[in-house]
Amino acid sequence: SFKAYIINKKEGNVKGSIQNLTFSDLPSSDVLIKVHYSSINYKDGMISQPDNPLVKSYPIIPGIDLAGEVVRSSDKRFNEGDPVIATSYEIGVNHFGGYSEYASLPADWVVPLPDGLTTEEAMIYGTAGFTAALSIHRLEENGLTPKHGPILVTGASGGVGSIAVSMLAKRGYTVEASTGRAENKEYLKDLGASHILSRDDVYDGRLRPLASGRWAGVVDPVGGEQLASILGQLHYEGAVAVSGLTGGAKVPTQVYPFILRGNSLIVIDSVNCPMEKRKKVWHRMANDLKIKEVFNLIKVVHTLEEVPEPLETILQGKTRGRSIVKLRE
Ligand code: NAP
Repeated sequence: SFKAYIINKKEGNVKGSIQNLTFSDLPSSDVLIKVHYSSINYKDGMISQPDNPLVKSYPIIPGIDLAGEVVRSSDKRFNEGDPVIATSYEIGVNHFGGYSEYASLPADWVVPLPDGLTTEEAMIYGTAGFTAALSIHRLEENGLTPKHGPILVTGASGGVGSIAVSMLAKRGYTVEASTGRAENKEYLKDLGASHILSRDDVYDGRLRPLASGRWAGVVDPVGGEQLASILGQLHYEGAVAVSGLTGGAKVPTQVYPFILRGNSLIVIDSVNCPMEKRKKVWHRMANDLKIKEVFNLIKVVHTLEEVPEPLETILQGKTRGRSIVKLRE
């Protein structure tokens, strides 16, 4: 038998616990994986709450991310011993996920671990890191280069934010990091930020459809009213890659930043990102976007037993960097 963290629902309440399972408890999908590491994302926090709109039926093993090695596969693309990554799709939401020593997944959801990454490094990235990399990839496809001007990263101390700051700095961009936690200033400088801004510096509570241009590009996992404010502060032909909603879901913007300044709003979806693009971005994460120097600064390692605590912390906006879950002995 092996261990997994399982959430059950009874009379409207959800409760998580560690249980011993056997392989017959897992879905009978194409690829059986021995999980080395999983991670904690904001979405994992949401899934651990009672009234979330994501989980359709219980019990569920959460963990939208996992990396490990193939134990057996009925699909020709994978062989025993192959190191692999799997993130998003229905994993940890409506299909048993990564908070488990073993996972059984459809082959279409599995990405070969690119050369140059360990399974631990892949989970220091996880969905948050993939989202940061996809945001940068899409901004660059849209024409962004370091010579265009400073780049803003919002929610900079969080998972998407920390990794975006580091990757952009590594690529030679001037990074302005916005945070609601002044105590993380030194941390963000160590990740490569040139300037640290407070949330008030980015949005002082008054929305102006057009203000003076401050940024050529933005990686924004925060969204909300602050995003409307940012859209009015872009350079001509600037772009925001928006991925999240920790600051709210309602974005009261106007058409002016788009039609008068040629700005773009690029929307990032890591969940159903097509496999070809997914592999290309993971390849970049192992190569030109690899942030080897700061992995140790960003990561916090937890055991499976400790999982409830970081799931709670991330919902309170108090996580710094990336929390990973170590399953391998
Ligand atoms: P995280 O580690 O909790 O980071 C979020 C950061 O946002 C926090 O660390 C905090 O940074 C800031 N923040 C929190 N509450 C805020 C508030 N009320 N107003 C303004 N800023 C606030 O979470 P994550 O894993 O990086 O995910 C971030 C967001 O991206 C989530 O909404 C998540 O669902 C979304 N996401 C989307 C995709 C996609 O495919 N579209 C993929 C991954 C994540 P500071 O304290 O530094 O300000």
